[in-house]
Amino acid sequence: MNKPQAREINCSACGEVTLVRAEPVYDGFKKVGECFVCTACGKQYASEEETPFVNAVAKPTLFTEADRPEKVSVFSEDERQRCCAYCREMVLNPFGQRCGITNRFVEATDLCEKFAKKEK
Ligand SMILES: [Zn+2]
Repeated sequence: MNKPQAREINCSACGEVTLVRAEPVYDGFKKVGECFVCTACGKQYASEEETPFVNAVAKPTLFTEADRPEKVSVFSEDERQRCCAYCREMVLNPFGQRCGITNRFVEATDLCEKFAKKEK
């Protein structure tokens, strides 16, 4: 048994977040367990389970840090620079915008592996 002598509780009697003292419980001369006493108001908790330890009160988190979605970004700056809109092969004509390599109509936001950056 390696329990700390004093632990924090959120006392249900006095409402304080304070330290609790563990006290041995005897049945005659035999130690049968421990009770916990609020150091602020003296409220006794009969067992560890009934003692509102601060750590135990903290709600378990359903999601770990790793489960959190990455900061949402639709395009990274690098990907954005590979859009057809920035490509020197994109040809604008009255009917729309066309890729000079594939001769297909493209959207300005299309990403292309044949992308070649347009000179400014
Ligand atoms: Zn108390």
